[in-house]
Amino acid sequence: MDREELERVKRERDAIVLAHYYVDEQVQAMADHVGDSYYLAKVASKAEQKRIVFCGVRFMGESAKILNPEREVVLPDAEADCPMAHMASVEQILRMRREVEDLAVVCYINSSAKLKSVCDVCVTSSNAVKIVSSLRNKNVLFIPDQNLGRYVQAQVPDKTFYYSGGYCPVHAQVLASDITSELNAHPGAEVLVHPESSEQVCALATFIGSTAEIISYAEKSKSRAFILGTEPGVMYALRQRCPGKVFYPVTPMCSDMKRITPEKVLDCLRGGGYAVKLCAEEMDAARKPLERMLELGK
Ligand code: SF4
Repeated sequence: MDREELERVKRERDAIVLAHYYVDEQVQAMADHVGDSYYLAKVASKAEQKRIVFCGVRFMGESAKILNPEREVVLPDAEADCPMAHMASVEQILRMRREVEDLAVVCYINSSAKLKSVCDVCVTSSNAVKIVSSLRNKNVLFIPDQNLGRYVQAQVPDKTFYYSGGYCPVHAQVLASDITSELNAHPGAEVLVHPESSEQVCALATFIGSTAEIISYAEKSKSRAFILGTEPGVMYALRQRCPGKVFYPVTPMCSDMKRITPEKVLDCLRGGGYAVKLCAEEMDAARKPLERMLELGK
């Protein structure tokens, strides 16, 4: 299907296509908006189209539905789910609330709606430091990503952090030795990593930031070569925005993100796909931390 035809189908169906940087390049090319979780949550919350086709993993579609419940949010693949989004439990959170005084439960947006519904505020990798710094509570339970949590903790040293022990199984596969081998092969290259990476990998970084921040850093940097410590789907944007610069990806692909194919997106635009359905009570409870994030993250 050519671009003109694609746009015609979107108009006929009154649909908007949102895609995360980690999905297949051909899927990103079909989207109206491509971005990281924070950007896409903001776009989804304001979308006026009847149907939002969310090219990403389940928690992203859930967040879109929670923030804009009047719209139909459809996922191209029902099985595309982020394993980290389930690496905490409601029981664990409620127990910590009983045991630790003056506690804020901070939830990385990469979490299920069920987990969000018992948290105080959501964060993404691009706004976590700003939002956690603004909280009055002395203690923070950071779920589910302990690597992002530790990265935030280092920059907000006046608070005591607790963790649920989750991690991204994709970023966790990168070892510090992978970075040093790439540095040996490409001396002088800058090392760009996502804060979902381990402490050891982050310690070798020139720059640590969200996917959008990594792209923006690479664009502005005077360097010509970069070792890339985040999901390689981001190469699509980097090639467009950083012509002439070279990137050496070390992070493997996220198999859940790569479940989204152009054919499945077209199926959504023709009325198929998997509608996100959540109970009203859970949506209302999960909306509070998401809206608080949008407010505090401004
Ligand atoms: S890259 Fe990691 S955090 Fe992102 S969707 Fe895949 S498994 Fe989840």
